[in-house]
Amino acid sequence: MIIDLHMHSTASDGGMTPGELVEFVVVRQQVGVLALTDHDTVAGVAQAREAADRLGARFIAGIEISTLWARTNVHIVGLGIDIGNAVLLETMAASRIKRDRRAVDMGRRLAELGMPGMYEAALARSTDKTNISRLHFARCMVESGIVAGVQQAFDKYLGVGRPAYVEAPWGTVAQAVELIRGAGGVAVLAHPGRYKFAEPWQADALVEDFVGAGGLAIEAVSGSQSPVFTERCLAWARKYDLKVSTGSDFHNIGGFRPLPGCQGQLTDDMPGCVLELLD
Ligand code: AMP
Ligand code: MN
Ligand code: MN
Ligand code: MN
Repeated sequence: MIIDLHMHSTASDGGMTPGELVEFVVVRQQVGVLALTDHDTVAGVAQAREAADRLGARFIAGIEISTLWARTNVHIVGLGIDIGNAVLLETMAASRIKRDRRAVDMGRRLAELGMPGMYEAALARSTDKTNISRLHFARCMVESGIVAGVQQAFDKYLGVGRPAYVEAPWGTVAQAVELIRGAGGVAVLAHPGRYKFAEPWQADALVEDFVGAGGLAIEAVSGSQSPVFTERCLAWARKYDLKVSTGSDFHNIGGFRPLPGCQGQLTDDMPGCVLELLD
């Protein structure tokens, strides 16, 4: 049974509607257990669940919460959450305001750098107008011929410390873990191998803080991190008694990440799968 517990739809910065995504993931990619984990929203979950139920796949309600840790954008995935949880919904409503304000600021920065109209373009590109991502900006910049690809847009303009980067006032890792726990879910540290810290000890400190806050699992395999990082994740999982997860972090066809289910699977020699904590 192929598992993929991290992917995006048009409810955030993915390219397919939740229904299209699930159809693609289950029918074409043969994934049997999947989670929709859109950035800071559960708006796509009901439609995704309906499609998964119809197609006979096991569906896990998920989210990927944005946080700041040492001024790095750290993502905490929540699996098995109650999508009606009032505190979660209120906090995510606040995140939408933060996203829009940040997007306006980014548009202003880009205009100052000689690229006008990018906020409006990103807005036009996003399906949920209240959930604009840097990836929407990056896609617009590629389309306008400003950069050769999405990666270049981040490397030159949108990544941390680049000229159009605007830090959003996300909550802490501990707050995200608490939100997920409060909504009955399991907190998973997303793609630990993707974070670029100034100092090498910081990755260990992040995992320690995540565990201290009540985090229970780690993405040992992720389409957003190099396969060579898996060993380090497994070492953390053994040290802190964490479960492990696997997810493609799929956004759209033609993107730079693996297709759903193609990111590598968990094996028997690894610590237990996060699904053991979900019913
Ligand atoms: P945001 O949540 O708006 O800050 O945007 C983050 C999203 O942009 C991530 O979920 C990725 O999809 C994408 N992203 C972030 N950093 C990079 C990068 N260096 N290269 C390509 N995509 C990135
Ligand atoms: Mn994304
Ligand atoms: Mn992420
Ligand atoms: Mn993601």
